[in-house]
Amino acid sequence: MITQKIFNDTETAFKLKSDDELNRALLMFGMINRPSLVKIGTYLTKISLKLHLPVEGLIKATIFNQFSGGESMEDCLPNIEKMYTKKLHSILDYSVEGKEEEEQFDAAMKKKISIIEFAANRKELPFAVFKPTGIGRFAIWEKVSSKLTLTAAEEEEWKRVQSRVEQICEAAYQNDISVLADGEETWMQDASDELMVRMMQKYNQEKTIVFNTLQCYRWDRMEYLQNLHEKAKKEGFKVGAKIVRGAYMEKENERAKKMGYPSPICESKEATDVSFNGVLSYCLSNIDDISLFVGTHNEVSNYLALQILEDKGLAIDDSRVWFSQLYGMSDNISYNLARKGYNAAKLVPFGPVRDVVPYLIRRAQENTSVKGQTGRELSLLMEERKRRKGEDTSKRSNESSSQKDQPKHHAE
Ligand SMILES: Cc1cc2nc3c(=O)[nH]c(=O)nc-3n(C[C@H](O)[C@H](O)[C@H](O)COP(=O)(O)OP(=O)(O)OC[C@H]3O[C@@H](n4cnc5c(N)ncnc54)[C@H](O)[C@@H]3O)c2cc1C
Repeated sequence: MITQKIFNDTETAFKLKSDDELNRALLMFGMINRPSLVKIGTYLTKISLKLHLPVEGLIKATIFNQFSGGESMEDCLPNIEKMYTKKLHSILDYSVEGKEEEEQFDAAMKKKISIIEFAANRKELPFAVFKPTGIGRFAIWEKVSSKLTLTAAEEEEWKRVQSRVEQICEAAYQNDISVLADGEETWMQDASDELMVRMMQKYNQEKTIVFNTLQCYRWDRMEYLQNLHEKAKKEGFKVGAKIVRGAYMEKENERAKKMGYPSPICESKEATDVSFNGVLSYCLSNIDDISLFVGTHNEVSNYLALQILEDKGLAIDDSRVWFSQLYGMSDNISYNLARKGYNAAKLVPFGPVRDVVPYLIRRAQENTSVKGQTGRELSLLMEERKRRKGEDTSKRSNESSSQKDQPKHHAE
């Protein structure tokens, strides 16, 4: 039985943080904990960047350093190597968003391939990741998802998008790196789901190279997974399932309400938890067919996965099961999993400060809106600070008592 609460071990969680870094993280989460401050900060950041005011230094010293690995792959390397000394892997995520031009999509694809090649000979980097709308216009994904007829120009554009996805998966396959496709808004997701299944059919014959994301805040994901599993068994390919709860809940609910269709999102947080844990259990029960990448900061779901691994007699480092948290969050989960020997990886976003801002804003807003998450981060950081102070005090008192015990001529 997994009874020991391994995620409470703050010494392991923050071993790599100096006292100064610990205090900085406390300050950061203290600020994020205040929704009004996040609202004002978001507004000022957007305006300042639009007006080209010199705020990049300030962003870099605060939220960028907390949630991002650096501006380039090379910038991230010292952190990646440091984390790996604690057996924690990394996944480099070039988090530039909101581009609309074909040249930018080609450049983004090349960047993804260069990350795959960079990762190829580094055991610290077992995965690569891409966001479908980072390599093709949102509107084209949306139109293909809606099954409307494409114009001739759109047909050409869609071919280019598919080719970019294929080139990324091919590079991953050639370099033996697994690749994760992010999940996004439901109204563009069908096209991505269909394409990623085609990639699994092609590249997941012997092992799982391609993973698609299942956002379990959607009430239809269990059915989707079961159908995909059936298809995979029939056709003889492996399923790669990256499971998360989902990051676009407010947007999804608002759109459904405005357009008058039933929301694709579960009716409550509890229903999302049931959906996530159900999908998690299904994958682990079918591990010979489905490789699982668990992306969550939820401790209950992580403990559940550990329990199922144990109950099923699976090795804790079974290569088909990975755990992941975002850089700068839930270090208590990542480092403790890694220390115990589970396969754990941090998703490390990077890119030029100005381009990573949308990602950073999402993290800040998420930490403000995700009930309890920031509170948990703060209490863990405070606990660690207290633990270190206690350690200092007892060290000092040990030193002074051992000095008292010294023979007189030594003490003098
Ligand atoms: C490694 C990694 C990769 C990720 N990749 C993606 C991705 O590709 N696509 C993506 O969309 N997200 C992604 N995320 C973000 C993820 O979807 C969640 O937003 C985030 O992790 C918070 O969920 P949780 O399970 O960690 O924590 P929890 O705090 O347990 O769950 C919070 C989540 O529960 C859901 N929720 C909250 N309130 C309600 C409610 N009232 N009704 C229904 N559901 C509710 C929401 O999804 C919310 O984000 C990723 C996260 C990680 C760690």
